[in-house]
Amino acid sequence: MDLTKKEIIELLKSDGASLFMEADLVRKKYVKDEVHLRGLIEFSNVCKRNCAYCGLQNKNKNIKRYRLSEDEIIDHAKIGASLGYKTVVLQSGEDDYFNQKRLCSIIEKIKEFDLAITLSVGERTKEDYRAFKMSGADRFLLRIETTDENLYKSLHPNMDFNNRKKCLYNLKELGYETGTGSLVGLLNQTIESFADDILFFKELDADMVGIGPFIPHPDTPLRGELNKNNFDMALKVMAITRLVLPDINIPATTAMETINPNGRIIALKSGANVVMPNLTDISYRKNYEIYPNKACINEDAIKCRKCIEGKILSINRTLSNSKGFRNRAK
Ligand code: SAM
Repeated sequence: MDLTKKEIIELLKSDGASLFMEADLVRKKYVKDEVHLRGLIEFSNVCKRNCAYCGLQNKNKNIKRYRLSEDEIIDHAKIGASLGYKTVVLQSGEDDYFNQKRLCSIIEKIKEFDLAITLSVGERTKEDYRAFKMSGADRFLLRIETTDENLYKSLHPNMDFNNRKKCLYNLKELGYETGTGSLVGLLNQTIESFADDILFFKELDADMVGIGPFIPHPDTPLRGELNKNNFDMALKVMAITRLVLPDINIPATTAMETINPNGRIIALKSGANVVMPNLTDISYRKNYEIYPNKACINEDAIKCRKCIEGKILSINRTLSNSKGFRNRAK
């Protein structure tokens, strides 16, 4: 569906009730009742960046840094495959230790388990992205975070908005299923800028879009009170994204579950069709603290999967048995 900026702003200003119902109908029509599970492996919390909102930022000295070894990462993927996952998401801070050679080797070994691989390792050169793709990576997640260039600049020291955009277009060109998304609830973020974010997802023709309510981290410059309204606004941004990109994959995000104990189920009923349960060993997981009180922090991989499976079945949705690539509407 094509929506103008004005129409999107009206929907964002509404109470959301009919928007959520419509997004659920569109979800059902285009991507059916199946929910795709992607097993998340947080393999390093080392990060060279200083994103103002993120607990992994380089300047945060109150965090215990870790890196999984190559064997540990592969073992995590193996556990994921044995639990029935068809996709693993390899996520980390921007950690240059995992250079092209190391990541390619990991990707090639994981492909032996017949898993789809999603990477979420931040900005890299086009040559790196090409090499990862040739080694077998299928998808890439890189949130634009916000399309308000001034806000982007104020939150991302020594980073370049245009380069982030360029990375997304490079990923598309290289044939990745490309995921992006945004944060909702940052200081000085406007309704107009949320509408621009949604129009950007459409312009990119994103294959996946993840929307996260902003959750303040006490060891960052954006520390402060959690604004619970961020949940409703994030849900509206997500639901409108389903209307404008009806056939894409949209996760019910962990940040939504963190802010609202029933957040993922509410999201699944408002346009989402993907959940990313955590596969990271709990001894590491607590140190991947992008924001505090993350949902499911103490549940091991088996418990995490069982819990989310039960919730999905309880709302009459089914668990997908496929790798869950985007199936373009004709
Ligand atoms: N380094 C990679 C990147 O930049 O894409 C992946 C890891 S990064 C920690 C994953 C996502 O966490 C970011 O895209 C950001 O939207 C989200 N995030 C970071 N801090 C957050 C916060 N305080 N509240 C909600 N989401 C946050």
